[in-house]
Amino acid sequence: RPKKHLGQHFLKDLNIAKQIADGLTRHGGYDKVLEIGPGTGMLTQFLLQNEGETSVIELDRDSVAYLKQHFPQLEGRIIEGDFLKLNMEDYFPGQFAVIGNFPYNISSQIFFKVLDLKQQVPEVVCMLQKEVADRLISPPGNKTYGILSVFLQAYYDLEYLFTVPPNVFNPPPKVNSAVIRLKRNKRVSLDCDEVLFRRVVKAGFQMRRKTLRNALKPINLPEELNGEKVLDQRAETLSVDQYVELTNLITSCRE
Ligand code: SAM
Repeated sequence: RPKKHLGQHFLKDLNIAKQIADGLTRHGGYDKVLEIGPGTGMLTQFLLQNEGETSVIELDRDSVAYLKQHFPQLEGRIIEGDFLKLNMEDYFPGQFAVIGNFPYNISSQIFFKVLDLKQQVPEVVCMLQKEVADRLISPPGNKTYGILSVFLQAYYDLEYLFTVPPNVFNPPPKVNSAVIRLKRNKRVSLDCDEVLFRRVVKAGFQMRRKTLRNALKPINLPEELNGEKVLDQRAETLSVDQYVELTNLITSCRE
């Protein structure tokens, strides 16, 4: 029986499960695939048919027991534990793709962890709430553009693949779902102080209705920057490159 606190909504539709599994393009040439939250293996069965070596990480003991019984070919590649807490480098020293029908309650935290692992994760295919998917892929200038959109778009190219209605899950979630794909771009790092970049983006969006001049007060903008036109804008209008530029501007004034 599905457990609500673990975000368990099991997919019932074989075609959709196959389409998600086939969403991986081998971008970057990895040969290992990690599925987050396999549950009873709806997606896993198709991943095992595709190229690459599939491992899974599952927090729910009952699901792990089920997988061990039904997927003997996964032997040694079922990690029982919390994706947010375990140190993935212990299991994957090299490159690996991430795929999953994510537990919706922790999808943002999963992405922050993927960002920590970005040098190892060339591609992600996942299902999540449609509303969250729309936010992540949103371009600047859009009301739904937010902190995670900026952070993810800095390092990944995001694509919307398809929409999934509630009735193909057990139990059906209250909202529509969507499948998206992230492909790592060529940036090794941002061309600026990344810690400051993150603070600027966060502060800006924390007061997204205000101009950056006001929203960035908590990070003590250097006075010389007062006349900068970019500060008349609001957080949601700046692209990744413009945030990099602004960060460099702040750094150069502080030096
Ligand atoms: N892949 C299955 C499917 O499509 O039918 C299940 C998807 S269900 C939406 C999410 C799965 O993630 C559940 O099996 C749940 O137990 C698991 N899960 C929840 N939190 C987790 C975590 N922190 N780490 C690993 N797995 C987790």
